[in-house]
Amino acid sequence: MNWHQACELPYYHGGDLGANPTAEETTFKLWAPTACGVVVCLYATGTDTEPGAKELGVHEMRRGDSGVWAIALPGNLHGTYYIYRIYFPDGRVHEVVDPYARSAGANGTRGMVVDLTQAAPDGWEQDRRPDIPAHARSVWEVHVADFSADEHSGVRPEWRGKFMGFTPDDTTLDNDGEHPTCLNYLKNLGISHVQLQPIYDYATVDESRPDGGYNWGYDPQNYNVPEGSFATDPFHGEVRVKECRAMVAALHRAGLGVVMDVVYNHTYHGESNLERTVPGYWNRRWPNDMMTNGSGCGCDLASERPMVRKYVVESVLYWATAYHIDGFRFDLMALEDVDTMNAIRAALDSLPGGESILLYGEPWMGGGTNFEGGARPADKRALDALHERIGFFCDDTRDCIKGNVFDAANAGYVNGAPQHGYDVLHSISAWRSGAHGFWPKCAGQVVQYVSAHDNYTLWDKLAAVGRRGDYDCPDADLLAQNRMTAGIYLTCQGLPFMQGGEEFARTKKGVSNSYRSSPALNRLDWNRAEQYHALVDYYRGLLALRAAFPRLGSTDRHAPEALQFFALEQPLVGWMLPAVWGDGAAWSALCVFYNPTDTACTVPLPAGQWKLLSDGTSSSLWRGQSRVFTGKAPLAPYSATIFGAV
Ligand code: CA
Repeated sequence: MNWHQACELPYYHGGDLGANPTAEETTFKLWAPTACGVVVCLYATGTDTEPGAKELGVHEMRRGDSGVWAIALPGNLHGTYYIYRIYFPDGRVHEVVDPYARSAGANGTRGMVVDLTQAAPDGWEQDRRPDIPAHARSVWEVHVADFSADEHSGVRPEWRGKFMGFTPDDTTLDNDGEHPTCLNYLKNLGISHVQLQPIYDYATVDESRPDGGYNWGYDPQNYNVPEGSFATDPFHGEVRVKECRAMVAALHRAGLGVVMDVVYNHTYHGESNLERTVPGYWNRRWPNDMMTNGSGCGCDLASERPMVRKYVVESVLYWATAYHIDGFRFDLMALEDVDTMNAIRAALDSLPGGESILLYGEPWMGGGTNFEGGARPADKRALDALHERIGFFCDDTRDCIKGNVFDAANAGYVNGAPQHGYDVLHSISAWRSGAHGFWPKCAGQVVQYVSAHDNYTLWDKLAAVGRRGDYDCPDADLLAQNRMTAGIYLTCQGLPFMQGGEEFARTKKGVSNSYRSSPALNRLDWNRAEQYHALVDYYRGLLALRAAFPRLGSTDRHAPEALQFFALEQPLVGWMLPAVWGDGAAWSALCVFYNPTDTACTVPLPAGQWKLLSDGTSSSLWRGQSRVFTGKAPLAPYSATIFGAV
């Protein structure tokens, strides 16, 4: 189906696709304009192998306007499982799970009708998005299973690795009552948002077995259904909905926002529920009809086609409203077109308080794709057309600080390649000078980071360059480089982001892509949080320092650039940034120096008195009686040194 044929299919304007139960009846609606018949098949269970399995009826749906097939059945069918059987004029018959299904049975092979009011945890009506000032935002990324799977996490065994592992807020290491773990740890770290690797239903973990495998989840199966392996009971579809919401509510109670990692760029395989509903419509294709492979998975979704765009927008809105999600991180965002991303932003903004919902993504793709109809990829070259509250992961910042992600031995500014100081200068001002050919509209668009689930952990990268792969050695230089790395990107303008555990020297033993490695390699090691507690304190101090100086996190595109860089001997970098009058900053200006060498040195300070806030080893000096300097500042080896104007 080419672009013109796709555009000739009728567009459906309604917002009621899927199964919608009320007290009196349940309405099923499916967009399938090329079908010649559709029936809905109802079942008592999610699979045929469960106790009580039986078919509850087959009902012919009627074709209405705009290619939508519909039927209303009596009663609230909450808890009933269903599939659609679709007949095509050429004789093909496809059985599909409703793309709008709100839940599913084990392994997602049947959808389930969900009445959201009957799938709410206690107190859900009181759940609200936390009110987090824009300048105080910072994101910490984790996989649901990794968060609490550690047997030392203090979380009760049946909740470890599950949505419910996020709900207790008083856990400690081996229940020692002393060292906080999981949510109890996070609530005092200073980050504002937790980004969860995929929580929608993905394909490659067998939900029907407790040891069904491990996967990051970038293999979407049912977009609007929570993943069953994260539920305490994957066989009853309402449980995963309820427990996923309980997780969100617990994070909200701790004052934290929840960002969801979404993968609308491709489906697990080319025979997805979407594609089999309207064959030829959903996936992007080359002129020879081969599906494009910009995702590396061989089946990109064609976001620029009208009903695909509608689906993505509505799916995001569904998670934002039914689960109170506070942000969306788009995997391979460059495979989405600019208009789709802007439509998502506009739809989120239309919700009460929706402007605070975060939206950002990876501004790249993993291969070639074929945008049709003049659509533009949402990458760094499209920043002129993307809404200013659509952010992007800044690989320029990431790579200049600690080296290229794809070459283990490649060093950056902090670990042996100080010539990157020039790029570090641009990182500080969120690349707004266009130095690398892209032009952020405001600093808030720039996700400033050095580690994420992909590639080496920060610790492993530093060890790969500096220690030739000795990942368990608490080497003093490596620790100093780690602190310095944090000292740089957490003093950059923009939105800071980190891989969970970066702050306690997380290691995956040099494995750079652990998407299906063992749970033991991937899980957060809560003993390590204790072992490296001084590093954790260092991050905590920096995050608090950042929150105390709002200009660093300002999202105001009109804020005047007032950064002053100092003329220092290479490779030292120094800069000063005054606060904005009346913004509540704890200091009227910050003065920051980076020393990426292994020797101490002294640099001139601007006129006036400067209180030492961080000396590169402790970032909480400002909380006590800190020393005041005039004239000159001492810089330790491998350090970020921070002063506040007295
Ligand atoms: Ca699944």
